[in-house]
Amino acid sequence: MIPLIEMNEVPEGLLEIKEAKELHRVMPHPTLLFLEGQKKAPLFVTVLLHGNEDTGLLAIQKILRKYRERKLPRSLIVFFGNVYAAKEGLRRLEGQPDYNRVWPGGEMTDTQEGRLIARVVEKVAARKPFASIDIHNNTGKNPHYGCINKLDHDFLYLASLFGRLVVFFETPTGVQSLAMAEYCPAITVECGKPHLQQGTDHAAEFVDSLLHLAAFPDHVVLQNERELDVCHTVSKVVIPEAYSFSYSDENADILLFPKLEEDNFSMLEAGTPFARVKEGSGARFAAYDDHDVDRFDAFFMIEENEIRLKKPLMPSMITLDERVIRQDCFCYLMERIDLEKRIV
Ligand SMILES: [Zn+2]
Repeated sequence: MIPLIEMNEVPEGLLEIKEAKELHRVMPHPTLLFLEGQKKAPLFVTVLLHGNEDTGLLAIQKILRKYRERKLPRSLIVFFGNVYAAKEGLRRLEGQPDYNRVWPGGEMTDTQEGRLIARVVEKVAARKPFASIDIHNNTGKNPHYGCINKLDHDFLYLASLFGRLVVFFETPTGVQSLAMAEYCPAITVECGKPHLQQGTDHAAEFVDSLLHLAAFPDHVVLQNERELDVCHTVSKVVIPEAYSFSYSDENADILLFPKLEEDNFSMLEAGTPFARVKEGSGARFAAYDDHDVDRFDAFFMIEENEIRLKKPLMPSMITLDERVIRQDCFCYLMERIDLEKRIV
């Protein structure tokens, strides 16, 4: 069984840590930190579900430094997740499931990690959380954006406090924000690449704004909502194991175009090339829809040995990191959502 440490005050040394790799000295196991604030219903924040994504840790350090000498405006619960992978500077360790796929409602709850997370959720839910924030980084050139799993006003309001760009998704399951959406408005925030001051500042400001928010406004239509750009993912694009790929090696089955990294969150026209395929290799992407069905032909076409977009879509999470492409995916494809039609 994975130990879950519980703390009721900021442990000595936490604020002095310079890197997530050092966190294990203060927190050798996944840790829940409960801090009392003026408003009782706690804000729940998770950091380091992916061990190499340190912006959440840095933002929490910034918040805790700010309130070192005074009471927090609202109670705060922080879950420091995959401290084991953080020690190695990895998203997850070999053999470990992804700490952001083992939350209740997912398919990997029957694992050691799933049981750990179930205990975390039980303890947090018992304290009636006000809102939940899961802080992440990504590897490509992406603008900061929030991800929500319900198109309710509270969720959109929460997202609007982070930024204009919002992604709505219902799969994958087993993620923090989807599980916490059962209890309170919940969001995953993607704060660009790890360890950048700008990402830390943005995440810390967001956390601080939620610590100060007295209640979610109950107006039916909010100006904030109208200004949001809400999209939803229609496909997760992966490169099947059977094919080799590269950004530079002309002999790979699939030669990816590095320029695409600049197009994250830009609407691309039908016909936009994504890759060159080696003649006769039969290589192609797998483009999974919400039901995990490969629908390559719905999103792409192969013309002149190039994989091209079949209709206008917006890619996200395109990264130049070939290891990440193998471990996770090449990119997501998104469409815009018309909120006026969707919100009830
Ligand atoms: Zn992440």
